Amino acid sequence: MQKEWIENAIERAKLFGMLNYYPGGELNHIPFSLSPFPISKSELKETTKLTTYFNKLILNVSQNWDFLEEHLSPIAQNDPFTKLLLDLRINELTQNKQLLIQRNDFFLLNEGHYHEGKTKNKKKDKPSESKIQQVEINTVAVSFPFLITQLCKLHQYLFENDRLDAIVHNNPVRNVANSFAITHKAYGYKNSIILLVTQPYENNRFDQIGLEHLLWDIYKIKTVRKSLSEIYKNCFLRNGHLILDGQIVSITYFRTGYSPNDFNEEDAIRGRKLIENSSAIQVPNLTIQLAGMKKIQQVLTKPKIISKFVSQDIAKIILKTFVKMYSLDEILVTSEGRIKASELAYHNYNSFVLKPQREGGGNNFFGVDIKKLISEIKDKELNTYVLMEKIRAKTHSAILVVKNNAESQSCISEIGRYGICTSENGSIINNFDAGYLVRTKSESINEGGVCSGFACLNSLKIE
Ligand code: ADP
Ligand code: MG
Repeated sequence: MQKEWIENAIERAKLFGMLNYYPGGELNHIPFSLSPFPISKSELKETTKLTTYFNKLILNVSQNWDFLEEHLSPIAQNDPFTKLLLDLRINELTQNKQLLIQRNDFFLLNEGHYHEGKTKNKKKDKPSESKIQQVEINTVAVSFPFLITQLCKLHQYLFENDRLDAIVHNNPVRNVANSFAITHKAYGYKNSIILLVTQPYENNRFDQIGLEHLLWDIYKIKTVRKSLSEIYKNCFLRNGHLILDGQIVSITYFRTGYSPNDFNEEDAIRGRKLIENSSAIQVPNLTIQLAGMKKIQQVLTKPKIISKFVSQDIAKIILKTFVKMYSLDEILVTSEGRIKASELAYHNYNSFVLKPQREGGGNNFFGVDIKKLISEIKDKELNTYVLMEKIRAKTHSAILVVKNNAESQSCISEIGRYGICTSENGSIINNFDAGYLVRTKSESINEGGVCSGFACLNSLKIE
């Protein structure tokens, strides 16, 4: 590929605000791909349709506190962070409106594995394989709606200009901003503000500022950025409203509060509690955040459990996208007898991913690290991990641009679909798919976030 063409792409990326602060303070473009990921029309349709089903599932789960407590409180006994989250709950209902903004992430299976899966698949708890296999659902601090919208604009310019490829239309930031504007209005106070709850040092702040700017530009809604500790120091409650600098807060939009590090300061916990006690519409509220925990994802893979929350038909469709998941302390009954999940993982560490109850990347265990962890961990901590079958994603070659350097690599791509759902008193008012995210990374890397420079933002094209 021509050097000038790549240089032009990098300059335009910067022009479009596709920026990131790297460790050490360097400001540079966010890593991006120059090879749109091909997807078939039918897969695209299927993934889009799945979003509304997952929205419904998460919303219904979020309204069942007893269910969340039943599965999370045993973990809270051994994991202080899960305990911290559960302890935030207050008995009083302060807000009956919910706004769910989630992203459902998945891989498309490697063809070979797909067929292998299909023929094997006669088990009664798994109706049939789908080529779409879920990685996880994110219900808190769902990132990249702005940056991916900009990446798609960049790709449209680069590829549609020369009629090389048609990029699948994508504008999640507009949908997210619109849902905020509607919810803000529903709160009912004309001069209220939206509070963006952020980490004290956010490297990925342009993704947030891009959304804030749209809220101002189109809807004339004012947003203010504050950390949890700052909220404790600067906010108070008046008639149930959260007040900042004399202004009512309509929505608290969390882009923090999902990791133990976010609560290192005692004031951060106090700030989070203050929000919980207010009537601000929280995006997400506590129960939506808990519904997205990895433990909940694992128990929902059981057909009997998922059927409590969605119809049989929807459960069947969703179940097809799940790989096997177990609690690490579970005893599994197999054709060869009974085996502990931890033992299975210890001996077959390359077939699994081991996940603690954490969000935000960099927390999972892969390969020999699984074996090492299992040999060191205390028995009572086993239940804080879920064991997930490793997904063998389809590989493709892609040109990745990281810090002004372009390189062609064999890659895998994780697709995310943004979902938006609003509800009042538990009834769904609006439920739709809001666009996509693609993160493309070298197939040799297990994890690796976009902001750390490993995964690259990408678009979809129809194959
Ligand atoms: P987090 O909440 O930290 O984002 P994820 O469940 O999304 O946790 O896992 C992080 C990354 O690990 C994913 O983006 C994906 O690349 C990889 N990963 C997670 N689960 C699997 C799996 N079952 N098979 C293959 N890779 C996985
Ligand atoms: Mg993830």
